Amino acid sequence: MKSALYEGARKIVWRDVEKPLPGKGEAVIEVRYCGICGTDLHIYHGDMDARLHIPQTVGHEMSGVIDSVGTDVSDWKKGDRVTVRPLESCGECATCRRGFTHICEKIRFLGIETDGAFAQYWKVPAKRLHRLPEGMNWRLGALIEPLAVACHDVRRGEVCRGDFAVVSGGGPIGMLVALCARQNGARVVISEINAFRRAFAEKLGFETIDPLHCELEKEVKLKNSGNGADVVFEVSGSAPGALAMTALARPRGRIVMVAIYPKPTPVDLHKFFWKELTLLGARVYEREDFEKAIALAASGTLPLEKMITKVFPLEKLGEAFQYMEQEKSAMKILIQCNGGEK
Ligand SMILES: [Zn+2]
Ligand SMILES: [Zn+2]
Repeated sequence: MKSALYEGARKIVWRDVEKPLPGKGEAVIEVRYCGICGTDLHIYHGDMDARLHIPQTVGHEMSGVIDSVGTDVSDWKKGDRVTVRPLESCGECATCRRGFTHICEKIRFLGIETDGAFAQYWKVPAKRLHRLPEGMNWRLGALIEPLAVACHDVRRGEVCRGDFAVVSGGGPIGMLVALCARQNGARVVISEINAFRRAFAEKLGFETIDPLHCELEKEVKLKNSGNGADVVFEVSGSAPGALAMTALARPRGRIVMVAIYPKPTPVDLHKFFWKELTLLGARVYEREDFEKAIALAASGTLPLEKMITKVFPLEKLGEAFQYMEQEKSAMKILIQCNGGEK
């Protein structure tokens, strides 16, 4: 089969590799589409080599159809339409035993610690499969994983009808968080420095703020009759974002930490104390978030197709990474791994 392999920083090679065979408890999926995640871009830049076995296939935001299953797999069969929740937890550590398998202390991410889906076929543990509804197109199927991230974030933030929410950072995840929060009945304002992304958000019907050219806190309160936000999603991963979040939340408000801050970053703890704020970490997703994402996508209520900026064929994966780096208006980039079906 064909595979696009990561060989080191900025080097993707197009190779023939052995088609995987399913072992015990495993399924081999014929991949239809696989989206490029921010994490994949970090990999492409060479920042995550320590977690990989190079040369390696990466990619985890996918849709596909089961090609074969291990002899002991009875819940799944050839032809089933699926996506994958790409987390492999140990099931034994204290965190797993508490039921939080998605933040297992020994977690392995399929497509990072194992081979990924930027290939014609992907072998995964059958336990990680989720069924896609018959009518859902394959491109939407590849958006389920990032949408599940957003579902998890919004669930952690307990967003409900009438809430005023600020999403700081309007990239693909921020945009999906905004869509899910609005779906829950919140009024959502997106703070984003990139004018292309603000324009995109406005097309989706969101109010936006450019935090570089206004006083963010003042602007947020202006929009909310003088009050701070019920819930703030910090998705920007920026130092100004971390500093602003406590200013933007109302007394007893919630802050959901979605972004990955690689190093300690200043936060105004006095505002935390003064307003009795709650900070919630939100990392990946749980089973129910995947099910929710699939149901949401299937319902057709979210403009998810608009999130797809461009589709590249598998052999152009390297080009797709470059496009994603350069194109300031890019949201989701998908790779078509097999077949001509939408
Ligand atoms: Zn992802
Ligand atoms: Zn564990």
